[in-house]
This record gives sequence, C-alpha cells and structure tokens, in this order.
Amino acid sequence: MVDVIVAGGGPTGLMLAGELRLHDVHTLVLEKDTEPSGQSRGQGLHARSVEIMDQRGLLDRFLAVSEKFQVGGLFGGIIKPWPERLDTAHAYGLATPQPVTERLLDERARELGAEIRRGCEVVGLRQDEDGVTVELADGARLRSRYLVGCDGGRSTVRRLLGVGFPGEPSKVETLLGVMELTEDPAVVAAVVAEINKTQKRFGAVRVGDGEGLYRVIVPAAGVAEDRASAPTLEEFKRQLRATAGTDFGVHSPRWLTRFGDATRQAERYRVGRVLLAGDAAHIHPPTGGQGLNIGVQDAFNLGWKLAAEVDGWAPEGLLDSYHAERHPVGARVLENTRAQMTLMGADPGATALRELFSTLMDFEEVNRYVTGIITAIGVRYDFGEGHDLLGRRMRDVTLKRGRLYELMHSGRGLLLDQIGLLSVAGWADRVDHVVDVSEELDVQAVLLRPDGHVAWVGDDQQDLRNHLPKWFGAAASS
Ligand SMILES: Cc1cc2nc3c(=O)[nH]c(=O)nc-3n(C[C@H](O)[C@H](O)[C@H](O)COP(=O)(O)OP(=O)(O)OC[C@H]3O[C@@H](n4cnc5c(N)ncnc54)[C@H](O)[C@@H]3O)c2cc1C
Repeated sequence: MVDVIVAGGGPTGLMLAGELRLHDVHTLVLEKDTEPSGQSRGQGLHARSVEIMDQRGLLDRFLAVSEKFQVGGLFGGIIKPWPERLDTAHAYGLATPQPVTERLLDERARELGAEIRRGCEVVGLRQDEDGVTVELADGARLRSRYLVGCDGGRSTVRRLLGVGFPGEPSKVETLLGVMELTEDPAVVAAVVAEINKTQKRFGAVRVGDGEGLYRVIVPAAGVAEDRASAPTLEEFKRQLRATAGTDFGVHSPRWLTRFGDATRQAERYRVGRVLLAGDAAHIHPPTGGQGLNIGVQDAFNLGWKLAAEVDGWAPEGLLDSYHAERHPVGARVLENTRAQMTLMGADPGATALRELFSTLMDFEEVNRYVTGIITAIGVRYDFGEGHDLLGRRMRDVTLKRGRLYELMHSGRGLLLDQIGLLSVAGWADRVDHVVDVSEELDVQAVLLRPDGHVAWVGDDQQDLRNHLPKWFGAAASS
C-alpha cells in the first residue's frame, strides 16, 4: 500500500510530494493532465516562499531562472517602494512564471523519489480505518494510508468528501491571455497607464525574450456560465475596445483563459485520512499574487506532520494542527483579497478609497505591515502565550559557521543552542542539535519545527524536555 496519494500535480501537490519524500514516505502523485498546460497564472514567489525554497536548498535553482523584484504594498494594485526593515533576510520576491515553479518542484519531487503519474484523474474515494481507496477515471483502484486533495479550486476530492465550500461566487470576470500586439509599445504603455487610473483589471505587459509577446488582461463583459471554456480572440478584442477604445491589434494568441473573483474556503481541511491543501482548500481573486504561495506554504506545514503520522511518532493532535494553523491563515488571505477587490473597483467611491489607502501606504509602518501580509512573513501560529518569536517562522540568521537556513534542508526539527548546554537526547532521530551563535539572535536557544516555526524559546533543559513531545512525540527509549 502507498503511504500517501497526492491528487493533483500543481505547485501545492508537487511541493507536498517533495516534503513527504524527505522523510521517506512512499508518495504517489496522480495528475489528470497528460502534459503541463504551460499557462502561467502565478507570476512569482513572495518572501515567505523564497525563504521556504532556501530552507530546503532549492533557492539557487529558482535564482538561476528568476528575476528578483522589490515591490512594496502590492495591495489592491497600489504599488509602493519596498519597505525598510522587513523582518526577513530574503527581502525580495522572485518573478518566476508558474510553469517554471512547477517544473522545479516536479524535478525535486522526482529526485527525492516521488512517483508522479500523469493522465490519472481521481474520480472516487472511500476511506476506512486503515486507509483510502482511490478510484481513477479508467476504473483502476489504488490503496493508500492517506490521500491529500491538491486538485485545485474545483477539487474532486473536496466534493467527494462532501466538505462545504462557503463563500461568494464570482461577481466579476477577467480575461487573460498571452498574444502578440501590432501597436507601438509606447502607445500600449500610455493607454495602459491612462486606463489604470480607474480600471485596475487591465494591463498589457511584455513577457518572454524579444518575441513581442504580451500578457494581456481585460474585464470580461459578464460572468461566464462555464469558466473552464476559454475565451475567443474575438471576445478579447471586443473587450479591449470596450475598455480602452483600441484592441492594440492583438493576434496570434498562445493561450487565452478567464478567471473570476469567487472567494471560498473549505470548512474542514481534514476528514479522517483525507486532507485538502492549496486551491482545493481556498480560492480567491489573484490580487496580490498569493494563491500559489499559500498553497506551497500549506504543503510546507502539512508535509512533516503527515510524515510523522506515517512514521508513527506523531503526537496526538499533530495532524489536526494542520487545519488549526492553516485554516485561519487562509481565512485572512480571503479577507485581504476581498478588501483588495473593493479597493480595485472602478466607481468613484472605490477610486476615492484607493487614493486614501495609497496615501496611508506612504507611511513606512503601513507599507511594512501590508507587505508583511502579502508576503506572508507576518504569519504567526497560535502556540499560546510566550516569547514574541513563539509561533512565528524564524528568519534566516548568520551563524559563526554558516547560515541557519542551510541547516534545515533535511526537513527535521532543529534546536539552535547558543549556550551549548542543552540536549535533545531522546529525540535526536527527529531533531538536530546545533551549537552555534548568531549576533542577530538575542535568545539563548530556539527549537524550530521542520517548517521553521519557533516551537520553544529558552535556556532550561527541563522546560525544553517538556515542550519537545508536543511537536516531536515521545522520547525514544535509549
Ligand atoms: C490569473 C491568475 C493569476 C494568478 N497569479 C498568481 C500569482 O501571481 N501568485 C500566486 O501566488 N498565485 C497566483 N494565482 C493563483 C495560483 O495560480 C493558484 O493558487 C495555484 O495554481 C494553486 O496551486 P494548486 O497546486 O493548489 O492548484 P492547481 O494549480 O489548480 O493544480 C491542481 C492540479 O490538480 C489537477 N487535478 C484537478 N483535478 C484532478 C483530479 N480529479 N485528479 C487528478 N488531478 C487533478 C489539475 O490538473 C492541476 O494540475 C493566480 C491565479 C490566476 C487565475
């Protein structure tokens, strides 16, 4: 029997597969499409995802194919300078098209030993005490101990579980495509700048290297009954003319799609042996570019917990902490995209609100706060009362011998001990003990979970021993 079947080989499923394989979990990814679509929805990684890639030794691969960007705010289409003193050693985003992110995560998952089967659509599931039976469209049946639905916004797994997906349906729809333009680039830029004063869901941005290709977005006339049906070039032209008075001479589309602003969240991220992650668990408009990022972050939270269950050392409640921690994060992202959509409206009230909000974002503190929301570096899980670091992910710090994040590639827990008097005896098979010092860290020791969130701060061995079981289970008998 397979340990974990991951339904869906998008960024969330591929990230999860890699995380599970770090712990030797027998992992099978089932992806319904026979080939990657090549369509770039997500445009890049925000700081928290950049940190994650660094924590797993993947950052160099991303840096080799991505431009860094430092755009502050990124809220409601209001662009501001990058704020000072953001709490991260990775104070930038990476412009990485989604297909590239998927390729890199796919490569990593395979290198680590995950099996990825394309052309396999999950259509049924049944769970019992020992595992889950997964049915494929061709009638084949597979058995696994756990199943994770990473199968996108229209998740079949979520539907089969009967998990509610409350929220709002789409009220507006936007057309998106990559195509060639005959219009002079300077004219295109001037028209976009003018239209953007009142309509934020409009743009034509150069993509690719010298191919004259543009990524074009424009509001649709209404909300299509079937969002899966691609718009035609004619529909695109019509909407461009209606919005901007010109269609820029668009032609030769590479791909065309449409997206809405439906905002919904799964009521539960876990039902027994089946879990949901990424767009399967939450959908929202792409404002601020957060969806792929929080999907990857869901996977980062879930991977080690599920591996602990499979390995048999998970303390009670560890797997349920996935919902407890990630559901509120998802809910807050939904809230911020609702706020952004209101700010992006084209009516005079929204325009006035946008101007006011833009002025507020000129205050460094506000810009930093908003950037912390969008980049997800501000996320703090509720681990109870305690030190200010508790529940936050720890930023990378320079140590006497290297950097903190270089020590986290294995996906194990980590005790960073600046006094050299502590011990993880009993948990050494799950937690690394590093004695080193950093000028950037003014606590004596921190215990980090495999996802880099701070589980304990202190200097007392007995206190540490009291906290280790909460995340790492019972001590091994020596
Ligand atoms: C226009 C647009 C722009 C965006 N820009 C950004 C951005 O800049 N930054 C950002 O972070 N996010 C952005 N997003 C959101 C981002 O694209 C999604 O959040 C992200 O793709 C979610 O990843 P996922 O792996 O959870 O789901 P998906 O990418 O949807 O992957 C799900 C996979 O599951 C497969 N699948 C579906 N059903 C089944 C089944 N029954 N069996 C097997 N496989 C199945 C699908 O084929 C797919 O490959 C944008 C979205 C849109 C629409």
